[in-house]
Amino acid sequence: MNKNIVLFFILSIGSFSALLAQGYSYSVNLNDIQNDQLSVTLITPEQENKNVVFSLPKIIPGTYAISDYGAFISDVTAYDKKGKQLPVNQLNVNQWEISKAKKLHKIVYQVEDIFDTEKEHEIYPMAATNIEKNNIVIHSPGIFGYLDHLSQVPFEITFDKPSNFYASSSRLPVSSTASQDVFEMDNLDDLYDTPIMYGIADTASVKVGNCDVLVSVYSPNQLINAKEIVGWLTDLLQGARSYLGGKLPADRYAFLYYFNDPKVKQSFQPGMAGALEHTTSSFYYLPELPAQQLKPFVVDVASHEFFHIITPLTIASKEVKEFNYNEPVLSKHLWLYEGSTEYTAHHVQVKSGINTKEEFLAKLSQKIADSKASYNDTLSFTQLSKYAASTYAEQYGNVYQKGALIAACLDIYLLHLSDGGYGFKNLTHDLGIRFGKERYFNDDELFDEIEKLSYPEIKEFLLKYVDGTAPIPYDYFFGLAGVKYQDTDRSLHFDDTASAKALKIQQAWLGTECK
Ligand SMILES: [Zn+2]
Repeated sequence: MNKNIVLFFILSIGSFSALLAQGYSYSVNLNDIQNDQLSVTLITPEQENKNVVFSLPKIIPGTYAISDYGAFISDVTAYDKKGKQLPVNQLNVNQWEISKAKKLHKIVYQVEDIFDTEKEHEIYPMAATNIEKNNIVIHSPGIFGYLDHLSQVPFEITFDKPSNFYASSSRLPVSSTASQDVFEMDNLDDLYDTPIMYGIADTASVKVGNCDVLVSVYSPNQLINAKEIVGWLTDLLQGARSYLGGKLPADRYAFLYYFNDPKVKQSFQPGMAGALEHTTSSFYYLPELPAQQLKPFVVDVASHEFFHIITPLTIASKEVKEFNYNEPVLSKHLWLYEGSTEYTAHHVQVKSGINTKEEFLAKLSQKIADSKASYNDTLSFTQLSKYAASTYAEQYGNVYQKGALIAACLDIYLLHLSDGGYGFKNLTHDLGIRFGKERYFNDDELFDEIEKLSYPEIKEFLLKYVDGTAPIPYDYFFGLAGVKYQDTDRSLHFDDTASAKALKIQQAWLGTECK
């Protein structure tokens, strides 16, 4: 060892502890639930300004809708080190301004859960919180706030908990005893990207290649259990692994399931269900039904959320990677984030033999029918995307229908132009290498980047059918893979008279890959 190394070592320890002193330190006692509310205590990072704004998010990644989590926070009180109260002024539903902020030491507030609130709200259940004696869903945007300009510092979260409660999450606590867990998050994005479900554990795990997979289930009437779901997801994840070239893009991943008893009224619209993706986990809010009835749905949705690791959690624009929690600034490329994810979720199932080719075509036919029946087929998809949280909120659902069809046609078109050698998954793989987790693309440059990796015809396709307003001629693009589109009933069928070239493309598109 030489001296410089020792000096460097001391310096880095010094700067690390300085960094921690500037971090957030939250604590919550899960033993103390009053009227579905918890008390939250924050020891704040030091402040340099006279005033500081404490915020809960207005919008979070992946939902493309306004959430206003601040509506569930009350009694925000700020203190200095001596315990003296500082003036607090609520600015709007999500923000509180604290004066004399240089003295600020502690903020205390109450948080109410969203699952069964009486308040009107627009929050999706898969992004909501639950605070009950037997189950607590920590969706951190609904519980923890942040101070102005202080999102890139660490967060330490301490939960005191009943001794029979287990924390299900892709993140392991840095310390854990029977009565307390401590988690550390790198920054605000990391905190909001890491849901934790507390309760009496029904968990199961499996190792798929390089990835430790956790499944955690809350099913109040025990209609479905974690072991069953792990069984279903193992085939899917093995398929995903070969689809992605042999390696899964995470070393640890958690599927968190909350099954809602349909007899128990909650604050969401009846029938509302869904899931939300995170970098190394996904959270599911689904109706509690007999297991076999749920199986196809559980597998399709898990596949969708898992493939979000690629888009947008790896490949995304600035709007996604430097996310603004205070106001919605959306990207133009929901066709990529949601559409291509939805397409891949089903494509992997035909490629790995979980679905037949006919089942896959039936799923795509259904998407054509839904898209044409329920949405505007001549609306620019980039405009839909940009204004999905406002002007075009009612068109948002088309990202799962036409968005997936855009990716399907691109896949076939790429295979056609490359004579079966380069499909959509090759393109996303190469975009992933080009940008990676740490970099973003600029919204206006994506089509040029795709052209560089593929063909001028692909950019023309994107300009005409994604940015432009022309409906996609499905008969032409599916025809390239020997599939006939019938407009009368909007269905897709294999064409017995397809050319040898089309059959070759069809084989490249739908042929099973060995596991
Ligand atoms: Zn999605």
